Amino acid sequence: MSHTHVFSGNPLDRSGDLRNDIAWLGEQEANPEALAMLLWEGRPLVEDHEGGQRLVWLALSHGRDLVPDRDLFLGLWKGAPVFAIEFEGSIDPTSGPAGGLGQFIEMRAAAAALPEADVAIAGTAKSLFDWRRRHGFCAACGKATDQASGGWRRVCAACGVEHFPRVDPVVIMLPVYKGGSEPRCLLGRQAAWPEGRMSALAGFMEPGESIEEACAREVMEEAGLTVSGVVYHSSQPWPFPAQLMIGLIAEVTTEDAAPDQTELEAVAWLTRAEARAVLAGTHGTIHAPPPFAIARRLLEAWAEGE
Ligand SMILES: [Zn+2]
Repeated sequence: MSHTHVFSGNPLDRSGDLRNDIAWLGEQEANPEALAMLLWEGRPLVEDHEGGQRLVWLALSHGRDLVPDRDLFLGLWKGAPVFAIEFEGSIDPTSGPAGGLGQFIEMRAAAAALPEADVAIAGTAKSLFDWRRRHGFCAACGKATDQASGGWRRVCAACGVEHFPRVDPVVIMLPVYKGGSEPRCLLGRQAAWPEGRMSALAGFMEPGESIEEACAREVMEEAGLTVSGVVYHSSQPWPFPAQLMIGLIAEVTTEDAAPDQTELEAVAWLTRAEARAVLAGTHGTIHAPPPFAIARRLLEAWAEGE
């Protein structure tokens, strides 16, 4: 695939049909080769290696000794079952039961430090645990739900409704104006961001919208610009907690941008040369989105004339 983003590229065979079979899942749990990665409050456990940091893998039995009844099935790696186990609570487990095993690091730091496959596996696990933590009770009747399918489904014994992990689609777009002396793209800035940081525009899709409609609505709401055309670029899973970022290039009809002052406090138009300077870190005032963000990839693609 031409566009592989950080948090995508999970190499595991998810075994989507097999994991619904309780007997098969039991065999995987009993397999002495079963492995488990650990998370604590959404942070993966990592250790230092020669080439940088990597996920720590324990035998599933060892992980279950540390945290009973808190695992989920992630898939098969070359035939061997792979699980994730989550510690809960405010105290770092490396000062207790997980002492000497490595360190828990924030997921954004992991995204920058770990190999692509490790980040994708850790991000998937984080999204699933986040969902489980928030869906212990049935949204239909309010009774407690039970885990099924190795963590990929929850079932309400009281009313029979099944619940599945949610993914929330977000449109993220780079507005482009082609009507001037040379093409320019628009970056926006939220007040809470680090000084100088600017990025693509983004927003959650709403029920009843197409991707194109959500893109046009967000660009109008945040920057006061009319979208005349939308081109899909690529997508990125984003485990904060479980978005799918849908990357777009959005052609707009004017340069009269007006930041809404609620989501965006400022906007800036950039030529391709200026965009390249931002990406190279040589622009005087504007800082690019971080390397693991799809916004940066959109900017790179446009700056290189893609
Ligand atoms: Zn129910």
